[in-house]
Formats: sequence, C-alpha cells, structure tokens
Amino acid sequence: MVIHGGVGTIVKETMTPELEAAYTSKLTEALAAGHAILARGSSSLDAVEAAIRILEDSPLFNAGKGAVFTHEGTNELDASIMDGRTRAAGAVAGVKRVKNPISLARLVMEKSPHVMMAREGAEAFASEHGVELLPESYFFTERRWQQLQQALEAEKKRTSRLDATPRHAGARPEQAPQATARGVCPEGSGARRAEAVGRERRGAGGRVIAQLPRRADPRAGACPESPPMPRHLGTVGAVALDQAGNLAAGTSTGGMTNKRFGRIGDSPVIGAGTYADNATCAVSGTGHGEFFIRNVVAYDICARTAYLGQPLQQAADEVIRRKLAEQNAEGGVIAMDRSGAVAISFNTPGMYRGTVGRDGKPVVKIYQE
Ligand code: ASP
Repeated sequence: MVIHGGVGTIVKETMTPELEAAYTSKLTEALAAGHAILARGSSSLDAVEAAIRILEDSPLFNAGKGAVFTHEGTNELDASIMDGRTRAAGAVAGVKRVKNPISLARLVMEKSPHVMMAREGAEAFASEHGVELLPESYFFTERRWQQLQQALEAEKKRTSRLDATPRHAGARPEQAPQATARGVCPEGSGARRAEAVGRERRGAGGRVIAQLPRRADPRAGACPESPPMPRHLGTVGAVALDQAGNLAAGTSTGGMTNKRFGRIGDSPVIGAGTYADNATCAVSGTGHGEFFIRNVVAYDICARTAYLGQPLQQAADEVIRRKLAEQNAEGGVIAMDRSGAVAISFNTPGMYRGTVGRDGKPVVKIYQE
C-alpha cells in the first residue's frame, strides 16, 4: 500500500521536529491500519478507505478536519474512490458537513447508480444512508484560517502590483496572469476583495457560524508563527493491492486555499485525481487540480503503461516531472500496478508519503531524496 499527504514546499528548514514527528506518526498509523486490513485478506478498497479516514480525521492534512478555506471562509470537501477490479467509482464534491468524504464517495459508488454527487444533493444522500452531518464549524482550524489570511494578503499585494502594470491591448490569454500555475489572477480591486474578509465566519445563506480572530496585520508580516505554505498542501490519498490481486485508489481534499466557493478540483474527478484499473494501475494525485484535470493525469499514467508499455515509474515521471513541470504546475502522484510495483513521483521539494509492503514495515518519507 502507498499513501500520500500532499505535495509542496516541504523543506527541513521550515519544519519543526515536533511537526515532522506528528506527520510521520499519523502517516505510520494510516499505513498500519491499511496493512492490517490487507493482511487479514480484506479488500484494497477497505484498506484505502480506512487509511484515508485516519488522515481525514487529523487536522494535519488538507482533508476532512484539516481542510483549507475557500475565499469566502467556508470548507468545501472533495473525494473519490475507485475499484480496480470492476472500475466502479464514487465521488463527492463540495460537501460541507461530512466528516469522512471518502466514505461518502464509497457509498455513492456502492449504493447509487451514479459516480459523482455534489453539495446539498450529496449531503441529502449521506443523510438517507445514516451518515451523520456535522455543523460546518467542525472543520474550522486556526492554522488553515491563518493560511487563508496569508493568501488574501498575498493576493491583495499582487492585485496592487498588477494594477500598476500597463495592460497591452491584444495580449494573448497565455500571457495573461490568469494562465500561470502559481498564482490566480484576482478579479476586481484589492480593496474590494479585502472587504470580503470579515471577522465572522458565515455559513450557507450568510448565517454567522463562528467569530473569528482579526486578520493579521500585514505590516507586521502576516502570521509569523506559521511559515508560508502552498495553497493546497495536505491532500491525502492511498492506493493498495490486496491478496486477491485487486487494486483500489482513493483521494480526499479540502481543495486549494482561497479557492472560489463552488470550485471543484481534480480529487473527485475520476481519471484526473484518482484512477484504478486492475489491467493497468491505480493512482492518487495531489497538486494544482486545474492542471490535473486538463492533463487527465491519473488516467494518462495508467494509459502510458498500457499503450506505450512504459514502466510505471517512467509513466509517472513523464506526466509529473515533465508534462506538469513544463506547465509550471506543482504536483505529485502515488501509483501501483497489479504486480505490486510502486511509483512515487513529484515535482516539488517535498511530498508526505509512505509505503508498506507484505512485511508490514511502514516507510514514511517527507523530503526529496
Ligand atoms: N488537488 C487538490 C485540488 O486541486 C489540491 C491538492 O492536491 O493539494 O483540489
């Protein structure tokens, strides 16, 4: 089994020993849970779901409890799961009150005729199947809230810089700032966007659901206690191969910090963020979702192994380290094939990741080697 907890600028210099130990221990716990399920002969789907639930329940990761905030200060979660034996798949997008979106994705796969359900419809489906809906405040974490404040400040600064730059008539879209992977070009003025940041957190229909701390003073350097983090760090995923020779893959995320509400990334999109087919491979991805969708990343990797006969690691590297890197898009994947071959590829300084084989010994890594 292989799991991940997101990619990004994860370097030893900005990591405290305590945080490093916390990540390592949570990833180890998830691997151990998955391995125990596989060792007793249960399915790869069960192992993937169990491992992801543990990571979703931890505030360390951008999934479930640790989900990042939208621009509007809400948490909107996406997840998907796929069975390599049958190519059945289930996904949920934009859910706000489901503690473990990966389990709801599995319910969609197993108890509905559909593949993907979104927002209120997905939550109504959850209720019908006895899934408890939590208040939105469950997903609030101070660390993610501060990250949103930093992102809003950075966006404001970029806007004022852009406003000061003359726009050339006839500029091609790919020259426009919107086309870059590392920054989303803001619409409207910085001033207007700044006003959107209140001290109250609002839920559906504008109801105030939490009183929030004051936005950090940008002159003081926003939130010095938390090092700057990529806007999406911490998505989680798993791929596994069971004793019956069946592959499965799953991914769960809060998306990207400061995303617009309603934005849906690659994680719930089968073929982009998640894919599993016994005939080729199982993949879970993490990174800048828009690029994963455009490049159909997970499916492309598996298809390369079949159509081009590329070894799994080469296929993963071609897509992540060449194609995505050429587009200046951050990302990483974990992958497995039916022979148990494992591939891990990322184009960032670090990726939270771990593997466990038949011997049950978990190996967790964070930085590039
Ligand atoms: N891929 C996720 C998204 O774009 C974020 C991530 O993996 O870090 O929603």
